Amino acid sequence: MAEIDRRDFLNGAAFSVGVAAATSGSAAFAAAPSQSDTTYPPSLTGMRGFHPGSFEVAHSMAWEGEVYGRAETLVDEPYDLIVVGGGLSGLSAARFFQQKKPDARILILDNHDDFGGHAKRNEFTVDGHHLIGYGGSQTIDSPASYSAEAQNLLSDIGIDTDRFYRYFDRDFYRRKQMGTGVFFDRKHYGEDQLSRAPSSLFGAAALILFGGGDGQDDTYIDALPLLRSDKEIFRHLALGDKDYLEGKSDEEKTQLLSAISYSAYLRDYTGASESVIRLIKRNLAALEAVSWDAVPAIYAAQLLMPGTRGLGLEGSTVIPLLTGAQRYLPTGVWRGMSDAVLGAAGVEPYIFHFPDGNAGIARLLIRRLMPHVANGQTMEDMIGSEVHYRKLDSAVAKVRCRLESTVVDVRHHDDRQRVDVSYVQKGQHLRVTGDHVILACNHKVIPYVCGELPETQRLALDEAERAPLCSINVALRNWQAFHAAGVNQVYAPEADFSTLMLDFPVSMGDVEFSADPDKPILLHIIYTPSAHLDAEGKSLRELFREGQHVIYRRSFEDFEIEIRAQLNAMLGKHGFDADRDIAAITVNRWPHGYAYLPVWPDEPGTDDPTSPHFTARAQHHRISIANSDAEYKAYVNGAMDAAWRAVEEQIAIANGEVNL
Ligand SMILES: Cc1cc2nc3c(=O)[nH]c(=O)nc-3n(C[C@H](O)[C@H](O)[C@H](O)COP(=O)(O)OP(=O)(O)OC[C@H]3O[C@@H](n4cnc5c(N)ncnc54)[C@H](O)[C@@H]3O)c2cc1C
Repeated sequence: MAEIDRRDFLNGAAFSVGVAAATSGSAAFAAAPSQSDTTYPPSLTGMRGFHPGSFEVAHSMAWEGEVYGRAETLVDEPYDLIVVGGGLSGLSAARFFQQKKPDARILILDNHDDFGGHAKRNEFTVDGHHLIGYGGSQTIDSPASYSAEAQNLLSDIGIDTDRFYRYFDRDFYRRKQMGTGVFFDRKHYGEDQLSRAPSSLFGAAALILFGGGDGQDDTYIDALPLLRSDKEIFRHLALGDKDYLEGKSDEEKTQLLSAISYSAYLRDYTGASESVIRLIKRNLAALEAVSWDAVPAIYAAQLLMPGTRGLGLEGSTVIPLLTGAQRYLPTGVWRGMSDAVLGAAGVEPYIFHFPDGNAGIARLLIRRLMPHVANGQTMEDMIGSEVHYRKLDSAVAKVRCRLESTVVDVRHHDDRQRVDVSYVQKGQHLRVTGDHVILACNHKVIPYVCGELPETQRLALDEAERAPLCSINVALRNWQAFHAAGVNQVYAPEADFSTLMLDFPVSMGDVEFSADPDKPILLHIIYTPSAHLDAEGKSLRELFREGQHVIYRRSFEDFEIEIRAQLNAMLGKHGFDADRDIAAITVNRWPHGYAYLPVWPDEPGTDDPTSPHFTARAQHHRISIANSDAEYKAYVNGAMDAAWRAVEEQIAIANGEVNL
């Protein structure tokens, strides 16, 4: 593992010294420091996500062995519920609890300067135009598959997913003659070339990634900068129906494909050359955060990726997508792809998208919990509504959200009637106390803050390694070059930034999508470092950890230089000039991104009670454990379902149904 010697880490070390100094003094703090009046977090650019100042205290515990312990200074009256982590799980937990106990005093603590966790909003003003984008969690995926509790929560905060059918202009880019491109960079392919991409390159995932295919595969394959022989191999893999495992039974095929990576399958069973494997292997990196070197071939077969269409495994009829087995596609659907066919199969289009992504959900939850922080009544008016950050932690409100507060210690009172929660906020070590605690933070941090949990549980919590990725917004002054190139989204198999897409064409409330190529727009880029690492002999967890360190080592300047260079190389021929056309960049780094999902047969699956997340999420008296890690499900509904269970556990205590 590479050394960590970056500025962020040094800042963290310096910060923890400051905290120790504050702790050792005996000063009593009458009240917690208040949220800044002046800063509006969504409009901050540069390095966001795990922004400087948000993670140093946690890392001082994890990396330097710092132990903060229970703080001397108690602030605030006791709470009914304290929630650790203000992501979608923590906010949902607060709301579920409030539904059951409307007068409850609730405190939400989060280490960031904004609420929502991965559901993050980014804003920009470019040449007088206000742009609103998502800095992480993107879209409500397949809401019909949500549990009743999660669906009720969406309704409770005013979300009617049917309205997105009107707000999302699904044919917009097609009408502009734009589609998917593939970018071959000079370093790996001899020259920079941007071509239209064959949709069959993405198997059935083209549905999810692009809402369908271009349907002109032959032409595009001819234009790929590959050797003629490689093009032929690719054509057979992408369009042919050959059974490369002929002679094996379905069971034998499934067993084999579950045990080898898709890249290995292509190499060893289809005769694909390395160039063809390299062309394909990162095409789902945005969804999985790793390349196909690290994912079993059975998933590729379920997605009808190149070389798998003739295997005859379609009898299995459902395609559980890798990132959470949430989206089930009857395999026949792939060939039809019309809305009618999809609808009949229960597959919803990928359109349930707020202009600020799932930050729209976070903001609606916040307004429902504390109506005094934002005006409005509807899901539409929340998009443009101002959130008054200084009111989030109002001393007179029943529900409070305290930001820039890293929880460092959680422990029951000796009589188990209350729980103390100590946190570090702006260098001060403070304590609150409450009847119930829900830990909705990522699981990896819990062993450091809650020493009283059983050792087996702490080890299980530590298994919740998350996939690292960055969700980057580039504010462009116009999108003429994309229009000229005929692409609104690009897959770049070898370049650093392998997935790039112009903003979704969604208009709602006062927010109008940028429909004119001469006007500013957001370009969204997804960076997945683990997809570029050598996966040989490494577990997913090892790949994730290595990728996390890559992200931390990369400064904002590194990102900026490379983004500019890639965009110039990709679109320069079509008139793009980074100096002129880029107005601002925000890098949302999520070193602890997608929740873990076991994919190899030697690990118990997500529904298997022997999987570590079952042990990890066990209730501990007045402490319950939520977060998407508790479900091993990197989806909004994973976060909500975990919150529901945690609240049910604590409500049972509050109602006297359970004796401690
Ligand atoms: C880039 C990205 C894109 C995604 N896109 C989608 C999508 O399109 N659709 C979908 O359904 N799902 C998507 N997901 C997954 C989904 O967003 C998550 O499952 C969900 O937002 C996770 O919410 P959470 O509350 O469980 O965790 P988090 O969002 O991680 O929130 C936990 C919060 O707790 C805080 N915390 C941690 N430790 C402490 C501490 N000691 N003290 C105080 N606070 C602490 C964290 O910093 C964080 O703010 C995406 C995820 C990522 C990363």
